[in-house]
Amino acid sequence: EHKPLVWIPYPIHELAIKKLSHECEVVFGYGDALVPFDAVASRVEGILIRTGKVTAKQIVSAPRLKIIARHGVGVDSVDVDAATAAGVVVTNTPNSNLVSVAEHTIALLLALRRKLIASDRANQRGLGAESRPELVGRELQGSTLGLIGFGRIATALARIAIDGFGMKVSAYDPILSDEEIRQKGATPVSLQELLATSDAISLHVPLLPQTRHLIGANEFATMKQGAVIINTARGGIIDEEALLRSLNDSHLGGAALDVTEIEPLPAGHPFYSRTNVIITPHIGGQTEESLLRVALDAAECICQALRG
Ligand code: NAD
Repeated sequence: EHKPLVWIPYPIHELAIKKLSHECEVVFGYGDALVPFDAVASRVEGILIRTGKVTAKQIVSAPRLKIIARHGVGVDSVDVDAATAAGVVVTNTPNSNLVSVAEHTIALLLALRRKLIASDRANQRGLGAESRPELVGRELQGSTLGLIGFGRIATALARIAIDGFGMKVSAYDPILSDEEIRQKGATPVSLQELLATSDAISLHVPLLPQTRHLIGANEFATMKQGAVIINTARGGIIDEEALLRSLNDSHLGGAALDVTEIEPLPAGHPFYSRTNVIITPHIGGQTEESLLRVALDAAECICQALRG
């Protein structure tokens, strides 16, 4: 019986490998049983890619290749033009980790508003709350959360913010109509209005030429004194030098970045010495639940494509 060959260059959840193995012969591009791509190029029919790239050279060297399944959101790691030209399907799993990213955004929001890092450090130095008036936090209830980009993740986040915390949520998304934004539970606003009225601002747009440095010096100046900003979308949407200046001027209250222009953010970066800045290493979408869901969804894309 012919089982199509699938090459997996980076570890994924073992249950997804088990699922794939029922219908496919699975070989790995890592670990003890490492098989380099070139060794299977003539036979490979599917690639399941988590990190790293699939190049045009690899695609043209694999005459039987039918599908490249991306583990996660985005297909920027795959030469989609070369794949399309070769008749190879490229898939991704955009819905599998949105809950994880929305929950991570809530974690960062609470940590900023309750000054979690500064409080932890103060406690280590034996200081009680009464000696640290600057550790007094802010409630989420009744405060305004401004969402820039109102797609899948932002919509899930809005629901938690409204139903769970009693926040007011406004959204700026030029591709959606005001009616669509209202139907998904938020108040439609212009970017200027969002910047000027939000207590917390969270970014949920893709990185495009139009969104590169969307938030720079002018935008920070428009924000409310003491407002906080969170980026779990993509590095490059915030102008990080302008952010640092706004924090140094004590205009902005704090920032939390799961994504930065350079990842990981280099050692010694001035952000690290601030207790009102939280940096996480692009882990917003990574939970046990989402890693299983993403891997199973990517495996299912492969099975469907190879069943023909
Ligand atoms: P999505 O495609 O569902 O939503 C993006 C929204 O942005 C769309 O509604 C679109 O209309 C809007 N948009 C496009 N251009 C805009 C602009 N110039 N101004 C305002 N809005 C604009 O995407 P999603 O699944 O919600 O993901 C959002 C972001 O999160 C993406 O950047 C994605 O790469 C990122 N992400 C990060 C992680 C992580 O681990 N931190 C995980 C998954 C996704």
